[in-house]
Amino acid sequence: MAKHSLRSLPILALLLALAAGPAAAQSAQTAAPAVQTPAQFFGFTIGADGELARYPRVLEYFSLLAKQTDRVKFEVIGKTTMGNDYALLRISSPQNLAKFDRLVEINRRLADPRGLSEAEAQALASEGKPFYLVYATIHSTEVSNGQAVLTVVHRLATENSPFIKEILDNSVILMVPSQNPDGQHLVIDHWYKTKGTKNARVYPDLYHKYVGHDDNRDWFMFTQKETRMNIELVQNKYKPIISHDMHQQGPNGSRIFVPPFTDPFDPNIHPLLALGQATVGQAMASALIGEKKEGVAWLEGYDMWSPARQYMVYHGQPRILTEIASSGGNLADPYVNPQRGRPLGPQEPHWNFPVPYSKDTWTLGQQVDYGVTAALAGMSHVAKYGHEWLYNFYRVHRDWAANDKGPFAFIVPATQRDQFATYEMLEILEFADVEIHRATSAFTANGRQYPSGSYVIKTAQPYGAFAKTMLEKQLYPDLRVFPGGPPEPPYDVTGHTLWMLMGVTVDEAEQAFDAPLERVTAVKPITAASPARPKAAYLVGPESYGVFKLVAALQKASVPVFRAGAAFAGHAAGTFIIPSTSASQPIVEKAAADLGLVVTGADRMPSVSGFRLKPGTKVGLWRAAGNMPGGWLMWLLEQYGINHEVVKAQDFAGDLNAKYDVILLPSGTSKARILNGLDRERNDPAEWSWAYGVGEAGWTKLKTFVENGGTLLAIGSAVETATELLDLPIEKALPEAPPRFGPATAATPAPTAAASVDRALRDAFSSPARLMQTLRDRVADPTSLFFCPGSLLQNEFDPTNPVAWGMPEAWPIFFESDQAYRLRPGFGVETQVVSRYPREKILQSGWLLGEEYLKDQANVVSFRVGKGYAVTYGSQVDFRTQPRATFKLIFNAMFHGPSAAVTAAQMGK
Ligand SMILES: [Zn+2]
Repeated sequence: MAKHSLRSLPILALLLALAAGPAAAQSAQTAAPAVQTPAQFFGFTIGADGELARYPRVLEYFSLLAKQTDRVKFEVIGKTTMGNDYALLRISSPQNLAKFDRLVEINRRLADPRGLSEAEAQALASEGKPFYLVYATIHSTEVSNGQAVLTVVHRLATENSPFIKEILDNSVILMVPSQNPDGQHLVIDHWYKTKGTKNARVYPDLYHKYVGHDDNRDWFMFTQKETRMNIELVQNKYKPIISHDMHQQGPNGSRIFVPPFTDPFDPNIHPLLALGQATVGQAMASALIGEKKEGVAWLEGYDMWSPARQYMVYHGQPRILTEIASSGGNLADPYVNPQRGRPLGPQEPHWNFPVPYSKDTWTLGQQVDYGVTAALAGMSHVAKYGHEWLYNFYRVHRDWAANDKGPFAFIVPATQRDQFATYEMLEILEFADVEIHRATSAFTANGRQYPSGSYVIKTAQPYGAFAKTMLEKQLYPDLRVFPGGPPEPPYDVTGHTLWMLMGVTVDEAEQAFDAPLERVTAVKPITAASPARPKAAYLVGPESYGVFKLVAALQKASVPVFRAGAAFAGHAAGTFIIPSTSASQPIVEKAAADLGLVVTGADRMPSVSGFRLKPGTKVGLWRAAGNMPGGWLMWLLEQYGINHEVVKAQDFAGDLNAKYDVILLPSGTSKARILNGLDRERNDPAEWSWAYGVGEAGWTKLKTFVENGGTLLAIGSAVETATELLDLPIEKALPEAPPRFGPATAATPAPTAAASVDRALRDAFSSPARLMQTLRDRVADPTSLFFCPGSLLQNEFDPTNPVAWGMPEAWPIFFESDQAYRLRPGFGVETQVVSRYPREKILQSGWLLGEEYLKDQANVVSFRVGKGYAVTYGSQVDFRTQPRATFKLIFNAMFHGPSAAVTAAQMGK
């Protein structure tokens, strides 16, 4: 493993070191203070087979470098979800670090260049230094990058080569050593704990407490602490001009991906940023290939569509993604091609993959080497062209601040169904540094009247690109593998229109208008004064998803809650009726103030029959180890204060009905997973027996749970599981999804039409199976195609069904490669369709092929099964907790299933 550190030195530095000779090296060593190398500090060479530096020691080492050299500043800037240190390093020349605040001031001025002349911008670009933000290991099983940065920082801190000096003198490096420190603990600690045992070495559960691998899909909703720290305390605070996001991919493709990305790119991304990505990516490729590192690819299957993983490109920064081949499940151990002797990865050279990898083995040391070279090459390039980078940073923001391409603005009318949702949506935009205005009196725009208090978000502002991509409808391009052929799958989802996700009405104003506006500096929910304590009850409408925070708080305080079973006296079906007591008053008043809930008082109990919520309704969340939808749901239930627990295999020893009122099956919960669970032989019982399978006996017990009165909620692919468990009278309405043609593991050109044909043929001829598949797809009836990889689709709701209480008659739901259902005859199961797809205009935002298959089909369906209740959600109405408008469908069912019917006379008692 000694060889790799030599190979990672850039050629120039190597030549200089050789020219200087051993004597010079000796004197430099004696003159400088003794700074431990990573190998000395950790006791092994970074990248040695099987060895990983643990996160707390990594921070200790950085902290030591900060003490022993004047080029590194180290600080812990916050605590993570699980209470670990979240750290930031600043690395530059001592001179630059001394004027750090001035350099940040320059970045901030260039990021909001309104009022700045070109000459002033040029002068600032000359005075400033480009900030290069790099973060390693957001995905914790991608272990090599967190190791590579040790070598990177050590070299920056100690090396005196012209190569390193140029980086230090001409740029400022901001480094987040791990964007998910909790995962460093979980994955690496598990790696050592299982050493020499029969146990699986890869951590079997989510490596972020709630969101696992989805931790880089959170960059527009900002739900997790780590996302928020990065944006608030790094991105928005220092305004870096470039972000380098270090990842690893599977072991069988190219050895490293660098930008440029493939199509599509969100047209809201400034072309200078797309070009900046390509420029730095190609500088990295040159350095790697120059060092004879094989298997470098660009223009592979990574696209630039969803803001969920690229906050920075809407904030003036190119996103540099590097994806180094990993050892897969071997983590820190070498990966060897199962076909011994055959080189890893594609073997045909292409212009975007000029040198195939020639060996059958791939080690952690190589992964570290590739990471070090790529990171230093990116930094070096930015340092060389600092003025150009800062000046382009200015030009991107200048262009957006003067945007005249329209729309002029997005208008959020003051009158909304859900003020809490409106507040949450505006808070997201504000958190992303978007400027929000509020009308101080009524105005007209687009031929419509808007009341005073309506919000206006203009697109002509420095971060107008973020506002526009979040508030407009996405028109995803119809990308095919070849013309008329199967769809080219996106890298992730295709629709993210924020107001649809959240249940807020937003209008787009194409033309400029005048309105009396004031800048909003801290958004708050619009609140109405709570009524004085009424004689009988508080009434709260069912429209806001925020109301369930109130319901959970009332349940926690053992305050009874009722719901109206039908509309009455101007109040909607599902209205919450909360008897007015000294116990309920402070809870209701606080919720009204915090959440913007509209509360009215009733001096007489309403004359309406309805339901009494079960006191202390207890939810069991079936969260199989490693199941991300379950992790997201756990976060959601915690945020709302819902009384819940993760269902454990041990629970099946007792009476499930005694323990839970509701069991929630997230998408991804298959029958096989319920029966088998985690491998008992390879996962230690002390830690993992909760996630073991429950077998056929447990499966039967789950069925009995519902028949005896329990409530079962099944989401996404778990609908199939629930259907089989309870013999629910529904069946799939959609044809099987077409075979996926990517994201490719082979080097592939950009999917322009011509290139796609070429690629499809090339791929087809590379394997007989693939050829047959391609031919089959070509002759297949194109009308049999259904494809919807993450879009917002219209649903019509039955607002008289308790599951849809509070929903508008129609609103988009999220659909990610999910299913729609049709009813079939069933005996002894009472079935009601809660929501279905309309006959036309189903696609609202994103991409959908085969819309006709959805027409009139059911999405959410409720069932009475024995004494129990079940609801199936064919589409992922909780997807990554982003479609908040449809949270109600889950919360409603959760509390309705266990509730008891009451007559009008019993209401409030
Ligand atoms: Zn990754």
